[in-house]
Amino acid sequence: MADALSIARDLIRCPSVTPADAGALGVLASLLKDAGFEVQRVTFSEPGTADIDNLYARIGTAAPHITFAGHTDVVPPGDESAWSTGAFSGDVKDGYLYGRGAVDMKGGIACGVAAVLDYLRDHGGTPKGSISFLITGDEEAVSVNGTVKLLKWAAERGETFDHCVLGEPSNQEVIGDCIKVGRRGSQSGTLHVEGRQGHVAYPHRASNPVPDISRLIVALSDDPLDQGSAQFQPSNLEFTSVDVGNAAGNVIPGKAWAKFNIRYNDCHTQDSLRVLVEERLKTACGNRIRAHIDWEPSNSNVFLTRPGPFTDLAVAAIEEVTGRKPELSTTGGTSDARFISSYCPVIEFGLVGQTMHQIDERASVSDMEKLTRIYRGVLNRYFE
Ligand SMILES: [Zn+2]
Repeated sequence: MADALSIARDLIRCPSVTPADAGALGVLASLLKDAGFEVQRVTFSEPGTADIDNLYARIGTAAPHITFAGHTDVVPPGDESAWSTGAFSGDVKDGYLYGRGAVDMKGGIACGVAAVLDYLRDHGGTPKGSISFLITGDEEAVSVNGTVKLLKWAAERGETFDHCVLGEPSNQEVIGDCIKVGRRGSQSGTLHVEGRQGHVAYPHRASNPVPDISRLIVALSDDPLDQGSAQFQPSNLEFTSVDVGNAAGNVIPGKAWAKFNIRYNDCHTQDSLRVLVEERLKTACGNRIRAHIDWEPSNSNVFLTRPGPFTDLAVAAIEEVTGRKPELSTTGGTSDARFISSYCPVIEFGLVGQTMHQIDERASVSDMEKLTRIYRGVLNRYFE
């Protein structure tokens, strides 16, 4: 089999902390070119952000088209002297590959590439349909010059995808315990309450926004937004800060504001959610309190890949290798799958996430072998 471990080591040795590429995409480009892929490197820019390198590689012209997505950028290593090995050494110790990105997600990409190269070798160098890699260097930071633009770029060139596997570290404890089939949406806002500033000894000439914003925070936090749905936990509105910007102890402040974030499920859209929260605010304000919400722009919509033939095929491949039937989960934060879901059904399955973003991030070498065999099993079934 093509060796996932050596590919992952080569990737880890490129210190590609966002926005640096440090040669990481070049490692993939040369492997995929040698295997007959048409490889394209694209750089995206946006004022105020660093230029980012991305890679799109495809082999085959027919349908169905499965794409493996991922990111080669990593978060900073933190205190490098606290690592057991160099953060970018790619050393193997006691059955673990150490290094920033080992699980999130250079290890996952390496297993995908190894599985695809192995599949091609067994099938005369070409797939029955098409296989591609959609790899960005901009996931861990602002995510503006990455997958979102790469997908648009590909679509403008007539590329269409039937299914996507995103190799993020989806498993919680052991490999095979979890496939992510959706993610909650994320929406932030600021609640503003208007009062009237005045002298603390003459409260009748002022209107204090502090008790008012407290009431509104309780009102908006107390009522559940929903009871959850078949695939999702209940939505949640969480206040994250409250402020009046007042340094003086003898002044009643003129205004107060509080920030919040909502993680919402498929009972809502971004629009229906905003309407619901604003209605509740209106009720809580009555005729007395003057308040409004400023919503932040959000590109994190809720999405769900409904269980069906594609998820079944992934579950079967996982069961064959690990003996486990994975949970189909929608928990956790956002990922690039939110962008991919607008183009084709996407599932996330990769290594075990426990050490991601930590000192001594590491991937079990035996898990990497299993993940490679799982991806190989997905390809067998997909092109059957
Ligand atoms: Zn990641």
